[in-house]
Amino acid sequence: MTTAVHPLDKDDPLAHKRAAFHIPANTIYLDGNSLGLMAPSVHERVNQALRHEWGDDVITSWNKHGWIDLPVTVGNKIGRLIGAPEGRTICCDSTSINLFKVLCAALQINQGRQEILSTEDNFPTDLYMVQGIEQLLGERCTLRLVSEDSLLQSINENTAAVLVTEVNFRTGRRLPMAHLSERARKLGALTIVDLAHSAGALPVHLEANDIDFAVGCTYKYFNAGPGAPAFLYVAKRHLDAQTQPLQPLYGWLGHAAPFAFAVDYAPAQGIRQFLTGTPPVLSLVAVDAALDLFADVSMHDVRNKSIGLANYWLECMDKHHLLAEMPSISPAHAEERGSQLAFQHEQAYAICQALIADGVIADFRAPEYLRIGFAPLYNSYAEVESAVQRLAKIMQEKRYLNPKFQQRNQVT
Ligand SMILES: *Cc1c(COP(=O)(O)O)cnc(C)c1O
Repeated sequence: MTTAVHPLDKDDPLAHKRAAFHIPANTIYLDGNSLGLMAPSVHERVNQALRHEWGDDVITSWNKHGWIDLPVTVGNKIGRLIGAPEGRTICCDSTSINLFKVLCAALQINQGRQEILSTEDNFPTDLYMVQGIEQLLGERCTLRLVSEDSLLQSINENTAAVLVTEVNFRTGRRLPMAHLSERARKLGALTIVDLAHSAGALPVHLEANDIDFAVGCTYKYFNAGPGAPAFLYVAKRHLDAQTQPLQPLYGWLGHAAPFAFAVDYAPAQGIRQFLTGTPPVLSLVAVDAALDLFADVSMHDVRNKSIGLANYWLECMDKHHLLAEMPSISPAHAEERGSQLAFQHEQAYAICQALIADGVIADFRAPEYLRIGFAPLYNSYAEVESAVQRLAKIMQEKRYLNPKFQQRNQVT
């Protein structure tokens, strides 16, 4: 082990952030795009919520510790990192459930139009949620899938909403949100953006780009822990124009007066109407604490480092002559990428397993891609250099052919 600091880490304005995370022993973690690392400050905050809030104050904590407002207060914290003014973002449920809500809202606002337009390699849950709504609504909803390249020109007068993930989960390709929004608006279509691979990884400008709805995860680049609740954003014009409930999951906590226990549903004003049931307080507390790690960082610095790490990864792979054998399927230009790279190889699954056995956690995406995620708050340039060295050795020795690396796990 060398103790010298890598020159690129010396110049990194975010280098100090790494110390805020628990880095698992002997591990280079390059999977923050699936599940971010835990910060001891989050651990402590959750412990405190367990011991003192739940333990000592029990049910009084709904008021005393503001549990009831957590979806809104945490939502506002997320809002600051995705270009959303106060009161437009709420933290609740899963991304999938939130997609259901905003898809239904868009179909209702744009009544008379049936089509949800999306990309054929969008993340499956996004497409499944539309398919479920198709099943439910019959002719009032149809899903149309096109390639990323033809998305903009495929919007037409029957498109109720364009459903798009800003950064493709496989390739890391980033689609231009401003162009999409402009084109959609011109043709009367609404925009629904999935920020799963954007939030916490790059600057997002929901209001400036005039996006109608957005959803995203907190367990990826926001490091809020496994299964932590997702977020949902709604543009002000839709919240203000509300004459009837915007989404169909009428739950008591989305009611205007939940503790009146009225028989009939009446939606709360503003973003709260997107709530359904009781929030997962312990997980929300984790989101709250995890977001504090972003309080003193600029998303511009985060983006710069993300690009720096990815470019350095490519440079190291080039130096080891790995790119011919396992070509990148990610865009060559950094501005057209999110915070990940993907490489194609027919043995990608086994290569990933061999990397994991060698202390480098990356992930595999079907059918044959090795995916490397860069989390700018805790990854270092030294890690990139070392991980590519290990990859080069695995490839040189063809270590991935070992049968133990060929065995597929349930979660890949
Ligand atoms: C990770 C991810 C999801 C996950 O949705 P959940 O409901 O949290 O399981 C959704 N969409 C995209 C694009 C993702 O990458």
